[in-house]
Amino acid sequence: MYKSIIVGTGPAGLTAAIYLARANLSPLVIEGPQPGGQLTTTTEVENFPGFPDGIMGPELMDNMRKQAERFGAEFRTGWVNSIDASNRPFKLQVEGLGELVTDTLIISTGASAKYLGIPGEQDNIGRGVSTCATCDGFFFRGKEIIVIGGGDSALEEAGFLTKFASKVTLVHRREELRGSKIMQDRVRNNEKVEMALDRTPLEVLTGENGVTGLKVRNNATNEEEIITASGVFVAIGHHPNTGFVKGLVDTDENGYIVVKPGTSETNIPGIFACGDVQDNRYRQAITAAGSGCMAALDCEKYIESMEHDPQQVSV
Ligand code: NAP
Repeated sequence: MYKSIIVGTGPAGLTAAIYLARANLSPLVIEGPQPGGQLTTTTEVENFPGFPDGIMGPELMDNMRKQAERFGAEFRTGWVNSIDASNRPFKLQVEGLGELVTDTLIISTGASAKYLGIPGEQDNIGRGVSTCATCDGFFFRGKEIIVIGGGDSALEEAGFLTKFASKVTLVHRREELRGSKIMQDRVRNNEKVEMALDRTPLEVLTGENGVTGLKVRNNATNEEEIITASGVFVAIGHHPNTGFVKGLVDTDENGYIVVKPGTSETNIPGIFACGDVQDNRYRQAITAAGSGCMAALDCEKYIESMEHDPQQVSV
């Protein structure tokens, strides 16, 4: 029987763990298949405050984990299959751990970037292939970059990357872009952006010094073409890791958990969400960490109110 269980160990979950552990609530943190989350697949993180010389993504996550452990957070590996919130306390069925019982739950399972699944893509993540312009754009100063996708994310990343790149080529599989008109106009009016529309990505090409470009099929001519670049940014969307709470907590049309604005509260009192699993907009380590802090404080307040009045189920 736990007072609080945190599912997910990215910056949001680990920050929540630090706060709850420091509040003597001894949270159990369930680690899934990718402990540490998305930052463990990046190299240097230069925009997390407090590290003037930058810090490697895995090291940052390792530090957060140690900090949570220092205050008494317990870590166990498991896969949450289902949650029964029809009665209190909540019951979780966790593969590898069996049934766990808890008063409160913090969901911080993050979101995963979608990948194309083409040759050369997975092997070069962090070595020329990236899914995060804010994280990695800086490494491509004065270089040519490709952005793949036609939605708002791709358009935004293409525009952002022109700050660093000598040229950005936007590769999209159709003639029409999916993104909003205003973002399309902005990108089309940007002199540094070249459009390669109606091109299907086929393979990320590499040489001795890393990524050298992208092989695409020109769908109009059915011919293969090569676009040269040192960096390939895949921006074809994210999917929130919310399969296990489908039908339990409210989600939006893209599957992201809906929280009460300005809080981490879901529609179920005692269940909180933080980090990318409820954020389709900012998706930064620091915003995730901030929302993890919010979830811990909301959770602590909820536990206090429960202890004060066990019948009360809302904050
Ligand atoms: P999205 O709107 O789903 O767009 C994904 C894009 O990737 C589409 O153009 C899609 O092509 C392409 N794509 C998907 N799978 C592909 C594949 N296997 N191969 C090649 N191309 C593929 O995703 P998003 O751009 O991340 O946006 C998600 C949501 O967040 C949207 O509602 C968006 O408006 C919002 N958002 C807003 C802002 C902003 O307002 N500043 C910024 C970012 C995101 P097709 O078009 O052919 O399907």
